[in-house]
Amino acid sequence: ALAYADDLVLLSGSWAGMAVNLRILERFLEHTGLDIKIKKCGGFFLRAPNQIVTVNHCADWSIHSIPIPWIGETQSYRYLGVDVSPKRGILPFDPRKEILPLLRKISKAPLKPTQKVKMLLTYGILRVVYGADMSLVGTVGLRRVDLEIRNAVKSWLHLSPSTADGLFYSAKVDGGLGLPRLEKQIAICQVKRWCKMMQAKDAKCKVLAPALLPKAEIAKRWKVATEVEVEGSLQASLATTDPAVIGRKWRVSEFERWCGLRCQGRGLATFARDPISNNWLGDPWGLHESDYILALQLRSSTVSTLTTLSRGRRRNTTCRACGRGWEGIIHVVSQCRSFKKNRMANHNNICRLLSIIGRTLGWEVKREKRITCPLLGTAVPDLILIKNGRGLVVDVAICYEVKPATLRRRAESKVNKYDKFAPSICNTFCLTGVKTYGFVLGARGKWYEGNSEVLSEMGLPRSRKKALAKLFSARAIRGTTSILKVFKK
Ligand SMILES: [Zn+2]
Repeated sequence: ALAYADDLVLLSGSWAGMAVNLRILERFLEHTGLDIKIKKCGGFFLRAPNQIVTVNHCADWSIHSIPIPWIGETQSYRYLGVDVSPKRGILPFDPRKEILPLLRKISKAPLKPTQKVKMLLTYGILRVVYGADMSLVGTVGLRRVDLEIRNAVKSWLHLSPSTADGLFYSAKVDGGLGLPRLEKQIAICQVKRWCKMMQAKDAKCKVLAPALLPKAEIAKRWKVATEVEVEGSLQASLATTDPAVIGRKWRVSEFERWCGLRCQGRGLATFARDPISNNWLGDPWGLHESDYILALQLRSSTVSTLTTLSRGRRRNTTCRACGRGWEGIIHVVSQCRSFKKNRMANHNNICRLLSIIGRTLGWEVKREKRITCPLLGTAVPDLILIKNGRGLVVDVAICYEVKPATLRRRAESKVNKYDKFAPSICNTFCLTGVKTYGFVLGARGKWYEGNSEVLSEMGLPRSRKKALAKLFSARAIRGTTSILKVFKK
């Protein structure tokens, strides 16, 4: 087996002290059987005898009698992706220069769009974070890197250049992609670190921290991290603020800003803190790559229709598919005549899944049974489930999430409609009682909480309920993306 250890740093206050450290290192190497690659090592020795700093004015250090290469005054050593010079310390770092080749390489790689994003998140971005943090890259520089990252992700996922930042930076649980935003996160990290330094229990740390604090820089970061200016002294704020609260809500703010957008934010508030309806974002199980991409466009209201194309300009927006109505996303998905068959198929898919679950749980399932009542006329509920003389009437609907209450209202109207037929249904099937439900899903994947009650009534164990809710949500999305695929042709 081959073990590999990297990035070991030894420090000492004197030449002799370092020599002792190196002897300890030698013994450590002998005990562990590790070997050292001396060519990749580097050392420097700073002294200031008469206020003038000298570099490497001393005898060689060595490991196992081999001298360690010196890092001269004009040279630097790359440690954890950061160039360190003996006299100048951490050298300026250009994160954009580092990220661009990475983005190009990932773009060219034979990977699926979502794999590219994952690659970037898992390996790419981390390579610039440490350097950008350590060398105090300014907000403008980081903002440029964030822009490059966003543009790359937009092109990989075939998202419109105008897609709002909220889709990228909101948390997955709120319906975003949860991408890092370096401008924010690095500032938060720096402010937190200085808070901890100022509040350190260690006596030396406490004395050194205020002396070393880069005041102007950290004051700017404070504003980015907390979204307010420093009140009074920065030092005092750092010394008294709990580091855990700094920047804690930045993703929530991103989401709120996204929700506030007139076009792209429409109906998004309904997806806040909803791990079920947003599950597909992190785990696109059951969605093909093309469905996933369309679902992102759908969620961010950026599917190109005549309405989005002509935003801000006057143009004819009559639906190209049916020749009636205004070609917006809601029209295409939930009103357009041309896709009536597709909508029915989606609706039937949901009914079918629900009947399978019902049968598995021992219910007798009647699909689209005509119920006639002399006073009320006829009703055809999607499903009537019967077991032990009890009945459940369930009518399914898929509707576009326009407002937070859209789905609940639809469910309530279903209940109002079919409740009236309860006596007739009891008579027809000799039941002692029936309960009526609307089973409503959003066209963009919203799982209506009332549906859980239906699943409970059906006798589904709690542990299975969540998984099935996620499945229903993904099915609803897939139904909508299948319409969009036809529309786009
Ligand atoms: Zn139409």
